[in-house]
Amino acid sequence: MARENLNPFDIAQHYFQLAADRLQIDFGMQDVLRTPKRCLTVSIPVRMDDGTYKVFIGYRVAHNMARGPAKGGIRFHPDVNLDEVKALASWMTWKCSCLDLPFGGGKGGVKVDPRTLSKGELERLTRRYTSEILPLIGPEQDIPAPDVYTDSQIMAWIMDTYSMTKGATALGVVTGKPVALGGSKGRDRATARGVQFTLREACRERKMKLKGATVAIQGYGNAGSHVAELLHEEGARIVAATDSKGGVHQPKGLDPKALAAHKKKGASLKTFKGGTPVTNSQLLELPVDILVPAALENQITGANASKVQAKIVAEAANGPTTPLADDILFKRGRTVIPDILANAGGVTVSYFEWVQDSYTFFWDEDEVDRRLEVYMRRAYQASSETAKKHHCSLRGGAYVLAVQRVLEATQVRGIFP
Ligand code: GLU
Repeated sequence: MARENLNPFDIAQHYFQLAADRLQIDFGMQDVLRTPKRCLTVSIPVRMDDGTYKVFIGYRVAHNMARGPAKGGIRFHPDVNLDEVKALASWMTWKCSCLDLPFGGGKGGVKVDPRTLSKGELERLTRRYTSEILPLIGPEQDIPAPDVYTDSQIMAWIMDTYSMTKGATALGVVTGKPVALGGSKGRDRATARGVQFTLREACRERKMKLKGATVAIQGYGNAGSHVAELLHEEGARIVAATDSKGGVHQPKGLDPKALAAHKKKGASLKTFKGGTPVTNSQLLELPVDILVPAALENQITGANASKVQAKIVAEAANGPTTPLADDILFKRGRTVIPDILANAGGVTVSYFEWVQDSYTFFWDEDEVDRRLEVYMRRAYQASSETAKKHHCSLRGGAYVLAVQRVLEATQVRGIFP
């Protein structure tokens, strides 16, 4: 069998192409929609604590701005490369459109393992990266946010660097900020809340109960750990969880708070007592009702998709399922809640944060959650109806819905000049 193409940008293009074909978009317009608007590569020299200098490479890509400013996170990870950032930026375009947010899609990344940096080094890296991409970002242009291995402290440094350079406090230049600095209540759990709300819809459709369902979670960062806690509160049983090094399986159920406390000590879930060790790939094949990939791309592939036992796969990560795997899961009657829908709670509350910042009037957490539920439910139902109309998977439906909206905005604006 030919080796599967795991290039993330090719994969993103594949999912776009299926929607473009279903919508019968002409070739020229397809090119307009698929090609990133701009890609910036920057070098980031950093003075390390020992007095030496190191140069890191960073990117910021705006894929599309037809419906509003580009929006999307910044990833600090050793595997970051331009094709990955382009793929992630295009997924943001479709994600924002699927949720009907007035944003386009963007993404940034720095090729670095932030876990090897001191706090001072991390701050200098973040500020210099911000200064290098500064001409492109802004509350009306392109609005970054957290992603893999970036957090609210890093967003605060971005906001400060931008504001100091412009000479005015600009709250809306970045989202996912600390609440003390114009962040939104509920933003830290928003991605997980979105996963929870879409899972409720998927369970309803499949006539399954979330209460009592067994769940395996791959990745225990911001998304994975909060998904575990929220689903546990809802009565589901978390039977397995992993981080980048591996994790633990316990059919009787695990306590998500104990797992989080273990991670907080700096330990891997691999060493968590109270179950049997499980690798990241073994976790995907466990006999569970719900599988939540909440780490990185290309985890469920042609090689393991036929062994996935879960009835529902909720993609808390971006791009965890390859096209070949997606086909196999669809043919086997599994529901895959696609990334651009399942994990869109994060960017939806980022939108709420940007709205609150522009009014400098802030909502309580209940209001954030209530509004988020409306957005997530509406997007799920619209994607599901579109999927039925086109006789395709939920991913197929979500993409048709998303691409159609961007197409419409592009057509009514017209191509400049
Ligand atoms: N990084 C998150 C995502 O992939 C959030 C992006 C945002 O809030 O702008 O959706």
